[in-house]
Amino acid sequence: MRAFFLLFCAAAVLTPAVLMAQGSDDAISRLMRQGEPARNLPTAPPRPVPPPGPGPVIGAKPQGPLPIVMSARIGEHDDRTRLVIELSDPVNLRAFALANPDRVVIDMPEVSWRLGAPPRPSGFGSIKSYRYGQFRAGNSRMVIDLNQPVSVADTLVIPPAAGFGYRVVIDLFPTTRPKFDAKAGWPADLKKRESDAEKLAAMIAAQQTPPARAAGKKIIVLDPGHGGIDSGTVGVNGLMEKDLALAEGLKLARVLRSRGYTVFMTRENDTFVPLRQRVAIGRTHKADLFIALHADSNPDSSTTGLSIYTLSDGRSDREAAALARRENQSDIIAGVDLSGSNNPVAPILIDLAQRDTVNKSSRFATSAIARLSQVTDILARKPHRSASLAVLTAPDVPAVLMELGYLSNADDARQMNTDTWRTQVAEAIADAVDAQFASK
Ligand SMILES: [Zn+2]
Repeated sequence: MRAFFLLFCAAAVLTPAVLMAQGSDDAISRLMRQGEPARNLPTAPPRPVPPPGPGPVIGAKPQGPLPIVMSARIGEHDDRTRLVIELSDPVNLRAFALANPDRVVIDMPEVSWRLGAPPRPSGFGSIKSYRYGQFRAGNSRMVIDLNQPVSVADTLVIPPAAGFGYRVVIDLFPTTRPKFDAKAGWPADLKKRESDAEKLAAMIAAQQTPPARAAGKKIIVLDPGHGGIDSGTVGVNGLMEKDLALAEGLKLARVLRSRGYTVFMTRENDTFVPLRQRVAIGRTHKADLFIALHADSNPDSSTTGLSIYTLSDGRSDREAAALARRENQSDIIAGVDLSGSNNPVAPILIDLAQRDTVNKSSRFATSAIARLSQVTDILARKPHRSASLAVLTAPDVPAVLMELGYLSNADDARQMNTDTWRTQVAEAIADAVDAQFASK
């Protein structure tokens, strides 16, 4: 018997109808106590959770302590893959499928994740891999990559009993490709929530711009890569790309502000920001320069050094194309619906007007590498590369993406984790920014 589990988590709406599901509790809790997947399913049919009420206000700070996700399990069964998520409090939870690539998204209000280090999926059953974290302020989610098309059964919620918190049971049944595709997509109300959130972000950005521009200062937008549910690459020392990018971004912002620049950031905390929203922030602020901060990884752990990417329309070398694929994955990782027109992974076309922007970007990349080579290792072969990177596509904003080093290399990962290195690199980047605008 395959007795394999994963622990992970989520939330649900508690209503009288949900409480009526208690009849099925004993069987599940007994099986869970035994550390067994619930192979023998409750005889009573699961009761669907009623549609959730209005969710939290977009971007609002949650009131009081966050609900805690205490555990999550994946049980493999002959006919289904079952997720059981345990929470401290009842919360609104939505599970839905997305196609291309096939994923199941479990969307919920912001929660605090207190999962231990769960075993990875075995590769059997429907679940290939999964991740969890903040999607945006006030909103968390878990995203599951699928091995096969599934149908997501109605969520069953079990109220606290036998030492467990609220348990949410989600069953994934293998299904056919046409049936999966027909059902896949964000629920309409969540789609509206996302577009409202993006509009709100654009509105806030627009309100901030006029006084900054009036001061006649150059505007720099810093874009720490990844965030929230999207960790990016993880270093051999455990350093996560999203944390490094944010720390370096905040440091660089301080240095640039001290030199008289107006600086905006696409994120200032550990939250996910969709790629197109990052591009929009650069454009809304009419940035004079957009700098995305990342770190790379390579199967060859001896590869080291910083590199800088500017936009190309796909005629890049194989390594650059692979990097673009990795960095453009962010929205897929976070469970963004890419079926709309703004698909960041779609082929990138550069028009003639954009060439001037690309030239300015390249000039900055060259000068930045010259300065950065004084303070850190630079990628030995061709440190300035071009690739079709979705985050660099604003036609009117000169933009670069810096891969600060290789988290897969022990020396790079160690030095990128030091304050000294981060300060030296921030100062060198700021020197290049000075040079970019001094020489005009
Ligand atoms: Zn990255």
